[in-house]
Formats: sequence, structure tokens, C-alpha cells
Amino acid sequence: MSVRIADTTAGAVGTIAIDLAAVASNWRALAAKVRPASCGAVIKADAYGVGAERVIPTLVEAGCGTFFIATPDEAEETRRLAPAAAIYALDGVAGAADLYARTQIWPVLSTPDEIESWSRSASALGRRLPAALHIDTGLNRLGLPVRETRRLAGDPSALAAIDLALLISHLACADNPRDPKNRDQLVAFETLSALFPGVPRSLAASDGLMLGPDYCFDLVRPGYALYGGQASETSPAPVRPALVVRARILAVADVTPGETVGYAATWRAKRPTRIATIAAGYADGVPRHASAPDGRPGGHVVIAGALAPIVGRVSMDLITVDVTDLPADLVRPGQFATLIGDGLTLEDVGRVSGTIGYEILTRLGRRFERVYVQDGV
Ligand SMILES: *Cc1c(COP(=O)(O)O)cnc(C)c1O
Repeated sequence: MSVRIADTTAGAVGTIAIDLAAVASNWRALAAKVRPASCGAVIKADAYGVGAERVIPTLVEAGCGTFFIATPDEAEETRRLAPAAAIYALDGVAGAADLYARTQIWPVLSTPDEIESWSRSASALGRRLPAALHIDTGLNRLGLPVRETRRLAGDPSALAAIDLALLISHLACADNPRDPKNRDQLVAFETLSALFPGVPRSLAASDGLMLGPDYCFDLVRPGYALYGGQASETSPAPVRPALVVRARILAVADVTPGETVGYAATWRAKRPTRIATIAAGYADGVPRHASAPDGRPGGHVVIAGALAPIVGRVSMDLITVDVTDLPADLVRPGQFATLIGDGLTLEDVGRVSGTIGYEILTRLGRRFERVYVQDGV
């Protein structure tokens, strides 16, 4: 995918070019893969930083009818952009019962207190309110513990005011298909969800849906894979990268052997070296650990199709890369370096920085201009 840089705002450090056609086709490919289960979309955190404003209508248009947000501040926008969709709030009621009842967004309930509180809201309105129930099957994060789940199933009056629309649980180790915990959680989910017969079920996110049809139940909940992220370590999802991140080259300069580059003088030139300084730093989401002064392999950028290693410390607004081996005429101030894309995946960037592609994606800063393109225009 290429983007017309001429279209970008002069003031931005660079661009995130988002291919909405790729997002749509990724969703369709996942939906086809999991059929007869249906495919929702997790669009929390401003659609993973990609921009809910554009991503949600794209997914609605592609046929997605179920969305998951995390927090109340995501409610109004999601309802406005997906007026007819089922929308669930993963963080539960979160003090926003009135907002959720008004916008018809259904909390994913995780505690007896929340069940009570949502029931009170329903009673106050004089009608039953839909909700999802999160059952904890071993992640020990959110979710009703096993004992509480059994108690709830044995006491139908506790759910009298609630229209139970969905049962969910979340997998801890689905990125590794060989981890035995996957099957343990599957069995626990089957057993516990059977206590609520007839209620639709959802277990898998981007990685879980690659574990096979047993894990897909009625609905899957991918987020990361919609943008081309590969959540599973060994089972590639049928998706393609949907974004390219580029930043401006501000300066190109030569340093002589023995000179150092960057804060704390951690990197020293061993040969005559040409350094390109690029207008993105940790304030823009380039991890500080992407530089490798201690000799371990560090991060790269792509300039004119070639890899250039990040050298010296990543600073707040800038990175410095070694472009000595690139043709000089291809590396000039005003040109753009690719930080993600052109062969560098989110996973690559996460790995060299000691993190995961999810963190890289969701922390891309506001100083990048988001540019929306259709099919690589
Ligand atoms: C964030 C989240 C998802 C989506 O996960 P991906 O790995 O991005 O597909 C699904 N379910 C729950 C409960 C989540 O918190």
C-alpha cells in the first residue's frame, strides 16, 4: 500500500495510512473462517488507535452486527456510528448504567454487585434489560468465578430483571495453540455455560478463533486481527496488514569513527557513518527499547525499500538510524521512513522492543496524521 504523501498535513510528524478496504476484507475473511459462528468486532481504545470514527462504519458496511467497547467514554460514538448493532461493554457497568440503558449498550457483567446494580437499573425502568455475563475460566482477570457462576445458575431470581443475551469467557494462552490451558478453559466454558441453556456463547478473540471450530461457539470477538495483526504465534490468521506508519526524515549527517550518537552517548560509530534523524520518538509510540546500544539486535525502519537500523537512544521526538549502506540519493530530508509496513510487521516491531504488536499499535501517538485510503490508493 502506498499513500500520497502530498496529501498529508505539513505539521504532522508522519502518517498512519489505514487501508479501510483491508480492514473490511480482514473482517470478512475472519467471518468466513468461523462460520457458522458469527463474527463481531472489538473496537475498544478508539479501534486500537486506528480511529473508531472510520473503522466502525467500515465494519458495519462489511456486515458486522456486534461490537465490543471497553469503557463508557466509547459508548456514544459507537452507538452513533453503529445505530442498529448489538454493542457490549467489556468493562461492565463501570458507573455508567444510565448511559448504557439510554444508548442500549449492554454491559458484560462480572460480579454479583454488578448483576445487582444492573438489575436495579432494569427495575427502575420497569423492564428487563439485556446484558452479557462474563464467566472466568482461568484468566483470573474479569469474570464471575466458578463458584459464583454455579450459585447464580442455581438462583434464577438473581437474573429475573436481566435478559441474558450472551455468555463470554476469555482465553489466557490462545496465542500458543499447544498450551494445555486452552483445552482446560474450553472444557470449563462448556461446563459452566451449560448451566444457562439457550444463551449464545463467545470465547475466542483473534488468537482463539485460530484454535479451531470448537473454540468459536456462537460468536467470536477479534480486535487485533482486523488490522492485520497476527495474534497467534503459530497459526496465521487469514488477514493482511491494514496500516503503514511513516515518519519524516528531518536531517542526514555524517559522523566520523569514534563519535557517538544520541543521549548518554550509548552508540559509537565504528566506521564513517551516515545518520538520518527521523521525526518520531517515544512520545509518538516508538518504544524506547527499540534502540539497542548494548549490541543486541534492535529495531529498524525501512527507507526506499531497505532496512536501516535504529542506533542510539530513542528520544521523545526523534530517532536516529544508520543509513550508511543506503544509496545517498534515496535518503534525503523531507522523505519518509517506514516504521511499520513495507515488510516490517507489528510483531517485528514489538519483538525487538520487548513487547507485542498490540502495544505498538495502540500506542501510536496523536502527532501522526491518520490518513484513510481504500485499497492502497
Ligand atoms: C480486547 C479483548 C478482545 C479482543 O482481543 P484481540 O486479541 O484484539 O482479538 C476480546 N475479548 C476481550 C474480553 C477483550 O478484552
